[in-house]
Amino acid sequence: MQQKNINEYDKTYEFKDHPSIKGLKIIDGKNNFPISWLNQQGYCEYQLYLENVKGIETQPTKAMTQGSQIHQELEDIFKQDSTPAKFEDAVEASKEEASMSREVFVVAPDYGIRGYIDEIWMRPDEIVIIDDKPGRTPYESTMNQVRAYCLAFKDMTCDDRKIKAALRERGTENLFWIEVFTPDIEKQIRFTIDRMLGLFDGTKPFKATKNPKKCRPCRFKNECEHSK
Ligand code: SF4
Repeated sequence: MQQKNINEYDKTYEFKDHPSIKGLKIIDGKNNFPISWLNQQGYCEYQLYLENVKGIETQPTKAMTQGSQIHQELEDIFKQDSTPAKFEDAVEASKEEASMSREVFVVAPDYGIRGYIDEIWMRPDEIVIIDDKPGRTPYESTMNQVRAYCLAFKDMTCDDRKIKAALRERGTENLFWIEVFTPDIEKQIRFTIDRMLGLFDGTKPFKATKNPKKCRPCRFKNECEHSK
């Protein structure tokens, strides 16, 4: 498979910082959040409040640091072996010849989401969008993250090929979860994204988890009034 380093886009947007929520942007007049926040939302929405609304800073966990290191190493190797390409050209060319890319930026202003896809395989008959995770358990939060990448990709390309969402054990070739991005899944992820946007515009409350097992390793537990 050809390796393409996507580093250019036909369509670009102006990003403005949200006046009070860290990491939230305003694109085309609408709040826009990083897709990776869906992972945190599935764990505990209150983490999002503490980190991005209250602005509490914590040290990254050991797992986060290790994850970033592996990610960077893979990215460096990929850049050495790939050729630069424009997003739209790579999508079009893949209808004839398969290619793979890493760290592909996607943005969907109408849905209020943006993020970087860890790896994407674009084949003449299908698109596979992969997110690397530690371990081999597909959690609802990690599945939602990769579903949102599928939604953003679909919105950007209007491509009618089958899109698959996949989770891969970090540092391996093991795709431990894979799902076709169907209209029902799309409806479901749009509902979750709307809930997220409701948190940021104040129409919905940030809910703290009721599960004490989640609080124990939480990096915000010392600052959190809901810690159990
Ligand atoms: S301590 Fe518990 S309730 Fe508070 S942010 Fe962390 S996981 Fe959520």
